[in-house]
Amino acid sequence: MAKDTPDQVPQQRRLLTEIPGPRSRELEARRERAIPKGVSTTLPVFVVRAGPGILEDVDGNRLIDFGSGISTTNAGNSAPLVVEAIREQAALFTHTCFMVTPYAGYVEVCERLNQLTPGDHEKRSFLVNSGAEAIENVVKVARYATGRPGIVAFDHGFHGRTLLTMTLTGKAMPYKRGFGPFATEVYRAAYSYPFRGTGRLADTITMLETSVGAESIAAVVVEPIAGEGGVVVPEPGWLAGLAGWCRDHGILLVADEVQTGFGRTGDWFACEHEGVVPDLVATAKSLGGGLPIGGVTGRAEVMDSVHPGGVGGTFGGNPVACAASLAAIRTIETGGLVERARVIGEAILPRLRKLAAAVPAVGEVRGRGAMVGIEFVRDDGITPDREVTGRVLRRCHEAGLLILTAGTYGNVIRLLPPLVISDELLEEGLAILEEAVTAS
Ligand SMILES: *Cc1c(COP(=O)(O)O)cnc(C)c1O
Repeated sequence: MAKDTPDQVPQQRRLLTEIPGPRSRELEARRERAIPKGVSTTLPVFVVRAGPGILEDVDGNRLIDFGSGISTTNAGNSAPLVVEAIREQAALFTHTCFMVTPYAGYVEVCERLNQLTPGDHEKRSFLVNSGAEAIENVVKVARYATGRPGIVAFDHGFHGRTLLTMTLTGKAMPYKRGFGPFATEVYRAAYSYPFRGTGRLADTITMLETSVGAESIAAVVVEPIAGEGGVVVPEPGWLAGLAGWCRDHGILLVADEVQTGFGRTGDWFACEHEGVVPDLVATAKSLGGGLPIGGVTGRAEVMDSVHPGGVGGTFGGNPVACAASLAAIRTIETGGLVERARVIGEAILPRLRKLAAAVPAVGEVRGRGAMVGIEFVRDDGITPDREVTGRVLRRCHEAGLLILTAGTYGNVIRLLPPLVISDELLEEGLAILEEAVTAS
């Protein structure tokens, strides 16, 4: 657990005004004149400090954080080791461009990625600035290494907002509508979604073999648990079966561990739960302890196939971001946060499943470790209910609990608490959520 520092915000929920308060509303009005609507916000409270389990806003309100900046501050917001590492590195040098003159921090982050990602084969990594950029690059490497054009992505998948990654993303609104034309040679397959009874592996494979042809597929890009898609946990064995099919056909399996990585699901990476060893792994979010950084990790022979200068970038693996990353990884290790994610899951899941049994609007509670989704449905038990989801969200926010929504149908509440959150705040947040669900 993160130790207390003088800067640390008191770990108690506190409501001094309505949510959002007057100062946040003032800033929101300025924001509307300065920033386009396209950049949207889940909860317009303007933050002044945060960590480990609390966000404090400009009105002095203290909200319980069940979002971790979308699973980016697994190690805690402004985690003490991360802050210290950033200060130290920023005072030494802030940038050289690794492609001009290198530095050790970049190498060390890559060494850590090579060690921590699934599989004990020889690996290589390089660093970029975001999850989308990591996915862009795994696709470049996969096409280069295989000499094939096709990329397979899934329904309910989310991979980013650049041209290629929004093409790979499954959901049209808000990610794709009006932003075409899209990248070519991207094929979509059904993701295993047990609650909705879709995405049988045998059907997916038949579809890919007949309508695409295995020999023209470079890579299958898959989230081990679909985060934005609604914390959809595929049927046991689905991912392993997919990996086996890829192996049999010389197709590279790419795990998008951007959201699921770094302890979130109770393993370092979510693939481990299924015993799956991907050929390439994309990381970002909690890799940086809050600073922007992404990683591309893969089999040495695949990664080494690309000619010098074929990948890289000006800011990729920025020295301050690398220092933050090493400190965030160390915080996860020394704090036992991978284990802690399991404990958090064991605290959340049974409680919410009990709630599901009592409230008909809760269709399913699912997740792994500290990554949990609650899917809301109408009386028929299956039709997505966005309205009730919105009411639960609003009630939680008004009570000082930050939660997120997700889901292709916008009917899932998503919980991603920081792994350093105290038992007390976790308990209090769950009580607020239970009340909101019951009342909605
Ligand atoms: C957030 C996310 C991305 C995109 O990452 P950015 O850093 O926002 O570009 C890609 N894949 C998954 C699974 C994500 O959750």
